Amino acid sequence: MKVAIMGAGLSGLACGIILERAGITPTIYEKRSRVGDRFVYGEIMMEVLNRPIEDSLAYLSEKHQIYLQPVSNIKELNVHSENNTAVIEGHIGYITVRGRHQHSLEAQLERQLSTKVIFNSEFSYEDLLKEYTHIVIATGEGEYTKGLQHFEEALTVRLKGATVLGDFDIKAVHAWLDNSLAPKGYSYLIPLTEKEANIVVAYPNYPENQEPSEDVYWQRLYNRLRNQFNAELQIRDAFNVTNYVIGKAAKPRIGNTLFIGNCFCSVMPFLGFGQFTSILTGIEAAQDLLGKLSISDTADHYYKSFNDSLALRRSMEKMDNGDFDTLVKLLSKHRGEYIFNSRINFMALAGKVLKPFI
Ligand SMILES: Cc1cc2nc3c(=O)[nH]c(=O)nc-3n(C[C@H](O)[C@H](O)[C@H](O)COP(=O)(O)OP(=O)(O)OC[C@H]3O[C@@H](n4cnc5c(N)ncnc54)[C@H](O)[C@@H]3O)c2cc1C
Repeated sequence: MKVAIMGAGLSGLACGIILERAGITPTIYEKRSRVGDRFVYGEIMMEVLNRPIEDSLAYLSEKHQIYLQPVSNIKELNVHSENNTAVIEGHIGYITVRGRHQHSLEAQLERQLSTKVIFNSEFSYEDLLKEYTHIVIATGEGEYTKGLQHFEEALTVRLKGATVLGDFDIKAVHAWLDNSLAPKGYSYLIPLTEKEANIVVAYPNYPENQEPSEDVYWQRLYNRLRNQFNAELQIRDAFNVTNYVIGKAAKPRIGNTLFIGNCFCSVMPFLGFGQFTSILTGIEAAQDLLGKLSISDTADHYYKSFNDSLALRRSMEKMDNGDFDTLVKLLSKHRGEYIFNSRINFMALAGKVLKPFI
């Protein structure tokens, strides 16, 4: 078996690790000059979205011997609306670092791989078909899948962010549900260290969201944060992502070509989270190639999560700031802590309840 993996991101590297441990050395092609070769930024893994799994990083280490260190454990999630704040405490999840950073998740995965990634290489799928018996598509872009099979796009997202300097609690994440800061989307602050945090506005590229520009939204968030944190928050390392595709591929495999990570359907439409699912789909693609499972069987689980998450997103898009105030009030007074700390499969429940209304 000759396996090529296109893309040395989360899914491609996870796939490579499992394959080489079983004696199959894949060839991994990465178009950039090193793993995560772009801006440094924070992401989160939120346990409530991964039920029935209780602890995503413990699961990866115990079940698959993939060891990842987060920046911190999130002990406090602060959800703000225009007029209310809910503080939710517990094991909320993890902050991870991504991009050009020695502790980024992709750098940690690369260190667990013996195979050398081939950098600065961007072969076409057709080129690889001539050389390899199996190809794993892991380019991190639904857009790439569109050229190879049907890909149902649910939305594309615009993100504008920056690292700001200040004093932050490394275990506390903040999110804002406020249409004046991110229309039909959300804004967030993720600390990277006690002195640096990422602040980001993320919202769908719908026609009604084109005006004003993301600069205006970002400036509003920045001003609100300066007031809230009562600090100057010097800006460093700004970044822009204009067309982040969220959708699902019709099939996890076509013949001997397998689709994983964002190229399959790992990014969940509700909040745009996809790290954990990308790693899992990478692992499962390797297990499929090793004859241990079939990704055509596991795909249903991801399609269901995707649909539940989309139902949640579509209902959120109907909410105005008054609705967000009510929601945030409901999340406070321990209800939020009940949802975040119980073992309820929140996504499945919300999907079931909301689907008839969408
Ligand atoms: C700004 C931002 C914030 C996010 N925040 C969160 C969050 O808080 N929580 C969360 O869970 N998820 C978050 N996500 C989503 C998460 O990052 C992705 O779901 C995850 O990284 C996808 O993994 P992947 O393996 O599919 O792709 P990636 O990890 O992106 O890797 C794809 C790799 O393929 C390479 N590549 C591309 N084209 C080619 C080619 N033709 N040939 C060779 N190599 C190629 C790329 O250079 C890249 O290295 C965020 C995404 C963005 C953009």
